[in-house]
Amino acid sequence: MLEVKGIENGIVIDHMKAGNGLKIFNLLFSNIEHPVVLLMNVKSDQLGKKDIIKVENTFDVDMNLLGLVDQNITVNTIKDNMLVDKKKVEIPKTLTGGIKCQNPRCITHSDDYAIPTFTLLKSNGKLEYECNYCEEITVYKL
Ligand SMILES: [Zn+2]
Repeated sequence: MLEVKGIENGIVIDHMKAGNGLKIFNLLFSNIEHPVVLLMNVKSDQLGKKDIIKVENTFDVDMNLLGLVDQNITVNTIKDNMLVDKKKVEIPKTLTGGIKCQNPRCITHSDDYAIPTFTLLKSNGKLEYECNYCEEITVYKL
């Protein structure tokens, strides 16, 4: 088993399905300035294989974006080597960014100030989000 030093103060994003770690890394951590490790294909009783991300710094992670990509995720907060908080993500009811509106004429594609926001309509094997600007439905497959 690959050994990675524990973190003193930071965030551990655990129980990502194998393959989702890289997606989440690119979505949330590609510009981060703190030490970060992405562990892929770690053995897991629950999932068979899982991915883990550890970030050496505490901050508010976007729980909505995590919940969009993978509903299994737990976010652990470590302070002074102690687990102080453990949160499970949920399918986000509203979303800011993370997906693009399917309507090619939507203002969010042409106006930099129009940040795409969405409201969840249905979650049944796939997620259906309604654009708050043009009301077009965008589907996110799980
Ligand atoms: Zn739109």
